[in-house]
Amino acid sequence: MKYLFGPVNSRRLGRSLGVDLVPIKTCSLNCIYCECGETTNCTDAIAEYVPTAEVVDELRECLQACPLLDVITFSGFGEPTLHSGLGEIVAFLRREFPEYRVALLTNATRFDDPDVRRAVLAIDVIIPSLDAAGEDAFRKIARPAPGITAKRIIRGLVELRREYRGEMILELFIVSGINDTEDELKKLKEAIAMIGPDRVHLNTLDRPGAVEWIQPAPMDRLRFVADFLAPYPVEIVGQWRVEGVKVVETRLGEPDEKGRRRPEPIPGSEEILPADVVLLAFGFRPSPAPWFAEHGIAVNSWGGVEVGQPGAFQFQTANPKIFAGGDMVRGSDLVVTAIWEGRQAAEGILDALGV
Ligand code: SF4
Repeated sequence: MKYLFGPVNSRRLGRSLGVDLVPIKTCSLNCIYCECGETTNCTDAIAEYVPTAEVVDELRECLQACPLLDVITFSGFGEPTLHSGLGEIVAFLRREFPEYRVALLTNATRFDDPDVRRAVLAIDVIIPSLDAAGEDAFRKIARPAPGITAKRIIRGLVELRREYRGEMILELFIVSGINDTEDELKKLKEAIAMIGPDRVHLNTLDRPGAVEWIQPAPMDRLRFVADFLAPYPVEIVGQWRVEGVKVVETRLGEPDEKGRRRPEPIPGSEEILPADVVLLAFGFRPSPAPWFAEHGIAVNSWGGVEVGQPGAFQFQTANPKIFAGGDMVRGSDLVVTAIWEGRQAAEGILDALGV
């Protein structure tokens, strides 16, 4: 695949097929924390950086196989809104594959342009970043192309929010000592009030950035920022380790055409139960977890794990280090069958280890 990547396990979006619309690394910013490294083509010019028709063909071929996805995400090694065919590609997805959610990760530098705003209106969820509202801090973190300012980004986001009906999650990347001072946070809070996103995500460094000296913001600093920005709904998504389990209350919805009432989340009932360690329990449908794809575990059309391919040990999955048995392989069945298959899988592991 030339323009698509994944599916990857996205912390926020689930199992995501990525669409990359610009050559590495074409961006209107050169963020010090960018995990793709230094921007080699720092520009805010809008152009057809890769052929729109080829992207559409690749998407069609991939999606016709009905892959298990939560979302198709415009992201990658640069800024997707710089591509002049973005609107055309979004329209194609809406027309031919309306069953898939579409997301956009963007640095929000081009929403000052009405054509760019129009191009993204049919997207389900937009995650724009805004790392500083003060110009000095913005320049230090984002190292923008000439003419791009924090003011221009905020103005574009305000306009977009006015026109866009989907979900907007504003992402703030915290760089300790630059954008987490009280003065900077006050400016950011004012900007958030003007933009009016649905939620704010606080992020910090997970992987090496474009400069060596950048460090992740400590968790207590992220909490300080989250408290400072209250009452806006702020979630800490950086510092990727377990802090708790988010739960939501449900109630039975209206009967469907077969008379079945399905549980529906009760708005506003979400809460986080603190936890240091979380053990995942698999049901007889493995869902499948997004990390299955990341670790090369093949699943069949209903999401069941495939095991015992020719040449494999018994109950060995497509990842030779992972074995599976029971309901996640055969579907709902007897407990005794699951226990027996667990034992057989253990035998398979011993065979694989040669013991
Ligand atoms: S906007 Fe995104 S792709 Fe561009 S430099 Fe910043 S982090 Fe990297």
